[in-house]
Amino acid sequence: MTTQISKVAIVTGASRGIGAVIARQLAREGFAVAVNYASSATEASALVVELRQAGHRAIAIKADVANADDVRRMFDETETQLGKVDVLINNAGILKVMPLAQHTDELFDQTFNIHARGTFNTLREAATRLNAGGRIVNFSSSTVGMNLPGYAVYIASKAAVESLTQVFAKEMRGRNITVNAVAPGPVATDLFLHGKSEEQIQTFARMPPLERLAQPEDISRVVAFLVGPDSAWVNGQILRVNGGLV
Ligand code: NAP
Repeated sequence: MTTQISKVAIVTGASRGIGAVIARQLAREGFAVAVNYASSATEASALVVELRQAGHRAIAIKADVANADDVRRMFDETETQLGKVDVLINNAGILKVMPLAQHTDELFDQTFNIHARGTFNTLREAATRLNAGGRIVNFSSSTVGMNLPGYAVYIASKAAVESLTQVFAKEMRGRNITVNAVAPGPVATDLFLHGKSEEQIQTFARMPPLERLAQPEDISRVVAFLVGPDSAWVNGQILRVNGGLV
């Protein structure tokens, strides 16, 4: 067992996109970071090398958040290599935009398995394993407030994440653990950009009154606030981070 010398954070889906930027930010703020990924091993390893070269403690853990055994092992490996977990960031996600009528059973299951079941799997482990004073940040989406055509299954799975967040915050009574969710608007990552024309991207970029897409740092700074001391009284909330979109 490793002697715990710094607070420990697990960031799911940290090989790329918003998760990778969160991992960098939490490392800079003194956390030892478990960089979870499902398939992007090269990107996850490169991030861990980068963090270690900057003097931080970091490990990469391959685990499909939709798989309960993988999630248990992710917590086991984190505890063994970094120490007991203080912070869980449930960032892993996918997006396939398609009218409900064209959705396949497989895509429905995949979307719900990663967002709803994945969040459920990690929260269930966190319930018994997170240190007192811990912090959990789940990932919803501002699309929940927009009801955009083509996003029905994605939105429904993120609505489930919002419900899990609000109930679990209450179930953590007595543990001094806060549970919140961030709900970003469009962020310039593969998840948003992939498959969209330049015109579609610009249409989304013009939607918020601040008239731009978010960068991952716009989201990671809010996540850092939610895991830091200044947010101690924020609990059970869904925080939309979208430049005023909805
Ligand atoms: P991204 O760039 O596509 O990255 C997604 C990350 O999730 C990758 O690291 C991927 O790892 C990981 N992942 C996917 N399936 C996984 C699984 N089963 N188990 C573990 N990891 C898995 O996406 P992003 O834009 O950063 O999105 C991050 C979160 O923000 C998601 O929950 C998304 O729904 C939410 N969000 C994003 C936007 C946006 O506009 N980008 C807006 C609102 C909400 P591998 O590559 O290893 O599979």
